[in-house]
Amino acid sequence: MSWKILINDGMEESGVNALKSLGFEVDTQKIPQEELSQKLQDYQGIIVRSATKVRQELMDVCPGLKFIARGGVGMDNIDVSYAKEKGIAVINTPAASSRSVAELAMAHLLSITRGLQDANRQFSGGDQFSALKKKWSTCSELQGKTLLLLGFGRIGSELAKMATAMGMTVIVNDPYVEKAILKIKLGTQEVEIQLQMVSREEGLPLADYVSLHTPYTGSALLGTDEFAIIKKGCFVVNTSRGENIDEDALLNALDSGKVSAAGLDVFQNEPHIKEALIHHPKICTSAHIGASTLEAQERIAGELVDKINEIGRAHV
Ligand code: NAD
Repeated sequence: MSWKILINDGMEESGVNALKSLGFEVDTQKIPQEELSQKLQDYQGIIVRSATKVRQELMDVCPGLKFIARGGVGMDNIDVSYAKEKGIAVINTPAASSRSVAELAMAHLLSITRGLQDANRQFSGGDQFSALKKKWSTCSELQGKTLLLLGFGRIGSELAKMATAMGMTVIVNDPYVEKAILKIKLGTQEVEIQLQMVSREEGLPLADYVSLHTPYTGSALLGTDEFAIIKKGCFVVNTSRGENIDEDALLNALDSGKVSAAGLDVFQNEPHIKEALIHHPKICTSAHIGASTLEAQERIAGELVDKINEIGRAHV
């Protein structure tokens, strides 16, 4: 296959090598967004993550483009329907990173429960050590607490398995899911657990923890109205999309004590993060790293290579 492919936001090395061994000409140099309209014209395929935008105008000046591949889930940076209209294949890897994101959500749940973000920032020996020991001596366990999942797709259901194993009661709000059924493997047996489904208004006053796992659909899932009815002392984790939480409303809820702490991997206006969020003692932050594990990157690369190979074969 003599196609030239531009990998503009990076790809795990095994994927780059696999594409080369299939005969594709692969270019891994990063071309700045403003130069793409001129330079992408030589390529038949482009592989991006979330940074590079592949918009209508770019497709119009690249008539040789056969596919756009997104390593990951969200396609906000690609004009998907326009690409399809033009006969350009668009592929992504929706399931490859679910476990990694769910594990990060669990890490945030554990971290904010024990105040690790503050303990790490403040850590010191001597008098400070004793003061910190006292400050963080009255935390709770996850076991026995109720976790409300907003969204029960690939990531939400993966987190539900871990939380159930930790002894939490998981309740689910997802208007597009009829029944929330967990399938858990125990040795050679598979056990099915049906989780309680609730509306957001029913779930928020009940839950000790709320974790968000939906796409952004135009309005925040947690804003002033929701923080008004959320259980006092609740913990909130967001590894979905920053826009799903109204950050000003969250800051008010943290400062008033309505929300105990929050774990955030995603932010409203990345990479321009509100200063008040960055060093807040009740906020544990990470830099949108949900999918950034070796395992997820290998799965993403493997899945993209298979799909690109299939598209290439169909054009022979
Ligand atoms: P998914 O499509 O498998 O699941 C999303 C679920 O949300 C669906 O079941 C859908 O019915 C439900 N949903 C939609 N609107 C809803 C609403 N208003 N209220 C409640 N539920 C609603 O998606 P996924 O793979 O589980 O990904 C979930 C989110 O995680 C996405 O926003 C994705 O962009 C994000 N994500 C983040 C990272 C990261 O690095 N932090 C990595 C991958 C994905």
